[in-house]
Amino acid sequence: MSSPIRFDDRVAIVTGAGGGLGRHYARELAKRGAKVVVNDLGGARDGTGHSDAALAVVEEIRAAGGGAMSNGGNVAEYDQMVEMVARAKEAWGGVHVLINNAGVLRDKTFAKMEPADFEFVVRVHLLGSAFATKACWETFREQNYGRVLMTSSSSGLFGNFGQANYGAAKLGLAGLAKTLGIEGAKNDIRVNTIAPTAGTRMTEDLFPAAAFEAFAPEKVAPGALYLVSENAPSNVILGAGAGVFQASYVTLTPGTLLTGEALSPEGVADAWDAIADREGEIVPKTGAEQAMTIGKLLQDG
Ligand code: NAD
Repeated sequence: MSSPIRFDDRVAIVTGAGGGLGRHYARELAKRGAKVVVNDLGGARDGTGHSDAALAVVEEIRAAGGGAMSNGGNVAEYDQMVEMVARAKEAWGGVHVLINNAGVLRDKTFAKMEPADFEFVVRVHLLGSAFATKACWETFREQNYGRVLMTSSSSGLFGNFGQANYGAAKLGLAGLAKTLGIEGAKNDIRVNTIAPTAGTRMTEDLFPAAAFEAFAPEKVAPGALYLVSENAPSNVILGAGAGVFQASYVTLTPGTLLTGEALSPEGVADAWDAIADREGEIVPKTGAEQAMTIGKLLQDG
């Protein structure tokens, strides 16, 4: 077994930690020594309204002997994220871990989805995570240390009926993580993505009661904590649910060079099987690596 993973002297922010997965992340981080900012707007599942949900989790953490402060900021408002980070730094001297977990649902088929509901969901998930991360970024750079976790979803990575807004935001988060992981590397800022499956209020009408128990958020939290720990990898996408952990990749097939008459829509159709053939596929670490594979095909003629 690896040596114990601890977060002593670390300050962690968990957004949307007033319930569900975020609450478990916050409690586990505190149990392992972190001082935790429990952020939550405390709204309904569709993002309407607000409450002091974060406060109840702070009380739970304090009752267990941990250190926590509540924050009712809206992740979709950059100024509120800047203020949240400033308060954490004022109280505890830094911020080392950020788990972007806050989220809402406004599911509908694309045919029936109002543009405002598309925009709202993308704003909370994608812009909210970008804003919270941006608010921490300079601190991470100055400290030469930062651990960031984005929360994606199988709906973003693989698609799901009725979740065009959510899926777009969730795959966007994996893209955001990849570029931030590349930009952060020289300052030991590691950025990962988790795609959880858990019984929470977000999924309560989707899971049968027995599955709800099997998919308890506690069974996702170990993956999240590993991905924000000192020795975490960077740039990984981890599926986590019911104690099952799976790595997910964006891959690239070797591809085919088309020239002359074959460089036509018909040529692409004819070559489709070869283009899509997954034999020898790779996982590029950067966009530039894909460009290099193109260069190699051109060179090889
Ligand atoms: P949840 O509804 O219990 O948690 C989301 C929390 O985010 C809520 O407490 C909510 O009040 C808070 N929140 C919403 N908008 C906010 C805002 N603008 N600012 C601050 N806080 C805000 O649901 P959950 O299942 O625990 O979801 C946690 C994350 O995991 C979400 O990003 C969700 O999309 C993702 N996820 C969950 C599942 C699952 O199976 N439960 C699957 C894939 C992804």
